[in-house]
Amino acid sequence: MSTRENSLHYADSASEYFASAEGYYGEFGGSFIPEILVPAFEEIKEHFEAIRYDERFWQQYCSFLSNYSGRPTPLTYADRLTEHFGRAQIYIKREDLNHTGAHKLNNALGQAMLAKKMGKTRVIAETGAGQHGVATATAAAKLGLSATIYMGREDMERQYSNVFWMKRLGAEVIGVDYGSKTLKDAINEALRDWVSSFESTHYVLGTASGAHPFPAIVAFFQSIVGIEAKEQIQQAMGRLPDRVYACVGGGSNALGIFQGFFADEGVKLYGVEAGGQGARTGNHAARIAYGEGTPGIAQGYKTIFLQNKDGQMNDTFSLAAGLDYVGVSPILADLAQKGRVQFSAATDEEVIQALEIVMTNEGLIPALESAHAFAGAFKDIEGSTKSDLIIINMSGRGDKDIFNIAEGLKDDEWKAFINRKYNQLT
Ligand SMILES: *Cc1c(COP(=O)(O)O)cnc(C)c1O
Repeated sequence: MSTRENSLHYADSASEYFASAEGYYGEFGGSFIPEILVPAFEEIKEHFEAIRYDERFWQQYCSFLSNYSGRPTPLTYADRLTEHFGRAQIYIKREDLNHTGAHKLNNALGQAMLAKKMGKTRVIAETGAGQHGVATATAAAKLGLSATIYMGREDMERQYSNVFWMKRLGAEVIGVDYGSKTLKDAINEALRDWVSSFESTHYVLGTASGAHPFPAIVAFFQSIVGIEAKEQIQQAMGRLPDRVYACVGGGSNALGIFQGFFADEGVKLYGVEAGGQGARTGNHAARIAYGEGTPGIAQGYKTIFLQNKDGQMNDTFSLAAGLDYVGVSPILADLAQKGRVQFSAATDEEVIQALEIVMTNEGLIPALESAHAFAGAFKDIEGSTKSDLIIINMSGRGDKDIFNIAEGLKDDEWKAFINRKYNQLT
């Protein structure tokens, strides 16, 4: 498919889900920002509106991704998984094959290009597990921008290898030492930087959440996933899928693939959240599926948050760091309310089981986040028939998760290996 058709296709299929002028999707979204940042947001809105329908920009973006990050990513027929269940034809969209190992680079590169268009020389970003920080540092190095990444001190301890790579890629990493020392504190610190630096600096938000127009910008750059998947499944099977599954943290990989099918009402869309230790345990990040989240306004936008009655945010929990987030994209909150996207949750235990099935049957190692999409699809497969056609979005690869996967699989040999290494070092 030509890039011209790509961009037209995007505009056509997603336009009914564009935000209102004030940045709302149904009752969710909006922009609740400090007065001082209004000019920064106005500038971004203006430039985003200009590139959104600019065919040349989209072409540059696509060719950059294809030359640098290996796009288009394949749509792999999972013949052994299909045989394993004997219930549905299963295809896997391979976002794990992007440079840096996940869909995140699609957005980081796109926003770095946007930053250059706006004449900025520096980017900043928040990062939780460090994946978005690595993607942003990578994009900044490639495009010659300087980068500062904010990360909670607690998260830096847990994900030190990502801190190491961000620094080697030339980014400055600033640890945040207050609050819970995690993602939400990193967001606050990045915003504090931006208030005094926006003339030279673009804030690269990592997922389809936050104040308008960030959900729209991130969804726009991730739409490439769905555009490709639709074209590929039609080529392979001569028809559209019955169901599409994606995991949902902030919502960017899910919106990426879902956008390819918004206009096709026969295609059912499923978002799978982090069920952690299960409903009503307090240890999960299922904002929608467990019905425990409620509408609220925080972090610059309105969505469904896991919070107490006083609006205090709850602590969330998941084996998958990338899904461990209290809010969710306002676009997905709206699509859930309208019934266009169905939500379910997979527990850590179900995720580990799914991971083992995928590894041994397909030779693929999904990220713990992506394994939620597989687990969600596998739970539904009982009710399927052989002629059903499903696509699972494999948002990233699992090499990064070796510690947590070994823990989840209770692998004693691995533990012994780590202990020996640790003793050698100390
Ligand atoms: C960050 C991440 C996610 C979650 O983020 P979304 O914005 O919900 O896509 C999912 N999968 C992988 C591999 C990630 O790195």
